[in-house]
Amino acid sequence: NADIAMYKSKEAGRNQYYFYTKQMNEQTQTQLKLETELRRALERHEFTLFYQPLVTTTTCEVVGAEALLRWHNPTLGQISPVEFIPLAESMGLIVEIGHWVLKTACLQAKQWQADGGMPQYVAVNVSGHQLKAPNFVQTIAQVLSDTGLSPTSLELEITESVLLDDPEGNRKTLEALAAMGVRLAIDDFGTGYSSLSYLRRFPFDTLKIDRSFIGDIAGEDEAAKLVSAIISMADVLGLKTVAEGVENQEQLDYLIALGCDFSQGFYIAKPMPQKKLELEYAL
Ligand code: C2E
Ligand code: MG
Ligand code: MG
Ligand code: MG
Repeated sequence: NADIAMYKSKEAGRNQYYFYTKQMNEQTQTQLKLETELRRALERHEFTLFYQPLVTTTTCEVVGAEALLRWHNPTLGQISPVEFIPLAESMGLIVEIGHWVLKTACLQAKQWQADGGMPQYVAVNVSGHQLKAPNFVQTIAQVLSDTGLSPTSLELEITESVLLDDPEGNRKTLEALAAMGVRLAIDDFGTGYSSLSYLRRFPFDTLKIDRSFIGDIAGEDEAAKLVSAIISMADVLGLKTVAEGVENQEQLDYLIALGCDFSQGFYIAKPMPQKKLELEYAL
């Protein structure tokens, strides 16, 4: 069949071959290019961190900043983490990239504190692959001691759905981190299938309500009731709440009325480079 060829990838090494058709060709080439570039992104210093303020809902005072990974490649341009994080996970690169994120964010937070400014803590997203790595607790301890950042100034964000596979292993890891004094947050809450009573078994400090709920809060009675229920139960469990994706004043008003502790979103501040955060918040 003339439409099918065997392609030997230079990048993948001697023993890897790909079958492809002409139709698949373009897509495959794009994917291969993405993978090739991602593999080299760290050593080529193509990653940066943006920071998005986390503020008190009632007074909009900055309490923390979430570090969000950005990848700019000279030929591919800007690529969204929604695209490259899952790819980095499947390629086995996320542990190394995640380690760079942790080091960079902790160093930055330490710098801000040394300069006498806010925020109180930096929040770092952690992939399930990092959490599962046998030396993860040790890695965190090492990063904290290398950067001199206090454990209470670091919050690790773990997506709700990650907990569901190997809950026992994850619970032990999280217990060890909590014992060190590191803050723990459940990210994107409401998108997984865990109940709040199930979450009680994990030592979380913070619950981040997924932005899909916040987006509907002013328009749908049901969404507002759900957010209200989440906040009430989080309260019972002693968890602080963060609303993700706040995009207008109406949503903020709802969150104030519902008693959501902290807010984050484009309406308050977009993710921004470190320098801009320092200028805007006089760090
Ligand atoms: P996330 O942890 O839930 O981060 C919040 C995402 O929502 C960010 O997208 C942020 O830019 C976006 N966002 C903030 N406020 C608003 C808003 O008002 N409206 C809307 N529509 N979006 C808002 P971003 O930076 O593209 O990151 C997407 C996801 O990629 C993150 O979701 C997180 O799961 C993952 N990610 C980002 N950086 C890292 C990282 O360093 N490590 C890992 N493992 N994952 C990361
Ligand atoms: Mg997050
Ligand atoms: Mg989130
Ligand atoms: Mg989200």
